[in-house]
Amino acid sequence: MTILEKDLKILWGRAAGRCSYCNEDLTRTFEQGSITLGEMAHVIARSQNGPRGSAEFLAENERDKYENLILLCPTHHRLIDKAPRNFAVEDILEWKRRHEEKVNFSLSNIEVQTFYELCERVAIILLENSQIHKQYGPESLVANSNPFSDVSDIWSLKKLTKIIPNNRKIINIIEKNIGLLKYTQKKTFYLFKEHAEAFELNTQSRLDREAVPRFPIEFKNMIEECMDE
Ligand SMILES: [Zn+2]
Ligand SMILES: [Zn+2]
Repeated sequence: MTILEKDLKILWGRAAGRCSYCNEDLTRTFEQGSITLGEMAHVIARSQNGPRGSAEFLAENERDKYENLILLCPTHHRLIDKAPRNFAVEDILEWKRRHEEKVNFSLSNIEVQTFYELCERVAIILLENSQIHKQYGPESLVANSNPFSDVSDIWSLKKLTKIIPNNRKIINIIEKNIGLLKYTQKKTFYLFKEHAEAFELNTQSRLDREAVPRFPIEFKNMIEECMDE
């Protein structure tokens, strides 16, 4: 058994590419071409004799699935495997749950006072996304100058661990402050939300590419125009 791409994508995406214990960004090592499968730690070891391997019954073909994996930096992976008795299955799953919740609800508690302030927050996140797209996206210099580079893998990792969590931040902070938007602004925001949700499903290969509505440029314009006023 090996870890399937589907499980790998869900794991890296939901953890935003960070250690579920200390939040260290694990995508950097990937860029240097040295990603190790070890960073995807088994909660219950693949074999009966491994760490927590006999903790409870889990069929062998279930052990490589997302549900039994946790993304950890090498330090924390070593920690839970060296002293397995100190780290119960429930404790490790609790780290994972809390970490994913943090990623998922990031910025969802931020209340701002004005639409301008909201735009400022969103603009920074949009800028980060567009820089990542420029640097690693399908039309990037790297992608074009070297057709054999693994930029497409880096791009799909960036989508999963940076762009999608960033989109979620945008949705969270706007929904928390939705009262600051006028009717037409809300409509524009919902176009973005529709795009972001389809993009996420598509990246996790659960949807046809054609089904993803394009990034609504009017959303970016709305945010930038507000900042110019
Ligand atoms: Zn760590
Ligand atoms: Zn391990």
